[in-house]
Amino acid sequence: MAVSGVETSKRVVVVGGGIAGGIIAKTLQSRSEVTLIDSKEYLEIPWAQLRSMIEPSFAERTLIKHSEYLTNATIITSHATNVTNHHVQTDDGQAFPFDYLVVATGHAGSTKVNRKDRLKHFQQDYEKIKASNSILIIGGGPTGVELAGEIAVDFPEKKVTIVHKGPRLIEFVGPKASRKTFNWLIKKKVEVILEQTVDLQSISEGEGVYVTSDGETISADCHFVCVGKPVASSWLHDSILKQSLDKKGRLMVDANLRVRGRNNIFAIGDITDIHELKQGFVAEKHALVVAKNLQLLMRGAPDKKLETYTPSPPIALVSLGRKEAVAQYPFGTLFGWVPGLIKSKDLFVGKTRKTLGLKST
Ligand SMILES: Cc1cc2nc3c(=O)[nH]c(=O)nc-3n(C[C@H](O)[C@H](O)[C@H](O)COP(=O)(O)OP(=O)(O)OC[C@H]3O[C@@H](n4cnc5c(N)ncnc54)[C@H](O)[C@@H]3O)c2cc1C
Repeated sequence: MAVSGVETSKRVVVVGGGIAGGIIAKTLQSRSEVTLIDSKEYLEIPWAQLRSMIEPSFAERTLIKHSEYLTNATIITSHATNVTNHHVQTDDGQAFPFDYLVVATGHAGSTKVNRKDRLKHFQQDYEKIKASNSILIIGGGPTGVELAGEIAVDFPEKKVTIVHKGPRLIEFVGPKASRKTFNWLIKKKVEVILEQTVDLQSISEGEGVYVTSDGETISADCHFVCVGKPVASSWLHDSILKQSLDKKGRLMVDANLRVRGRNNIFAIGDITDIHELKQGFVAEKHALVVAKNLQLLMRGAPDKKLETYTPSPPIALVSLGRKEAVAQYPFGTLFGWVPGLIKSKDLFVGKTRKTLGLKST
């Protein structure tokens, strides 16, 4: 295929259509032959899903069909199952040849392949929340805390309980941010139970009673499981990249974001072993560095010309309902309306859509 700006067009296969994979596929689509393989037909902005559970129409802007922003790429809706030196294989028996491969499988996304079904799922979650007087949230990481915040602000009359295994909420940020978040939730009448678990195998929603690892009983009309998901690298376990996975299942990359020891395979986003907080804005930076490096390689540039990636400082924002948030910056922690102004109203949805070349609204 003749593509302007490149003498011999190279085949770039991107596996994973989250923020990282979506942005690199978009950046390269007019410069090479891009194929995006994603399990779903759409890109989901993951940090917007908690708002979509209490306001399903919010999801309309946050579930973006890959075809909306990839107008010059091949989109394959399929699950990648293996990679050889020259192909990516998918669960429907297809094999996609590549000159360059970018692995961006982050975490397993929703099991809903179609956007329509995912929208329906948010509507069902909303109905469930609306119909319940009491809600149990299992897991006090960012997902559990943001969900509790959304419910506490929009449905203050509902009894929300969080059960969290660790000694403090949102352990990926510092103790101060964690303590302020705890206090905020308590003020909103959310009950927080720390250092206990709920056995996920034994729970069933209809019963209305949940027992914690310490034998405490919690009454709740429904529950949501918000425990951290492992990275989506199991599809690489029998592949040529199996030796490139660290103990946590992350792909080990070099300073140019190439999978260590591989000339033509890169990894970006949450799947990488880079020492930094796993964040979408960081995944975007990875995508832009690798897009540059691929263009350099396609033009025949030597390795020494490749761009190196500098890990980001620890910046994180956790929203607490529609107006407030807690932010961790290298210089300290911010809490309340100020970080809320940055994240909590639109949850960076307009900004992310613009990055993908779409209207923010
Ligand atoms: C509650 C919460 C709040 C957050 N808030 C923020 C925030 O405010 N700002 C911020 O920058 N970041 C935030 N993050 C982090 C951010 O969501 C992630 O860092 C980011 O989404 C990582 O992007 P990714 O593309 O690497 O992976 P993912 O978004 O996980 O995408 C991976 C994609 O790969 C697909 N996939 C997986 N396996 C396969 C396979 N075998 N074959 C084909 N496709 C596959 C999945 O379906 C998915 O589409 C938040 C996260 C959470 C959970």
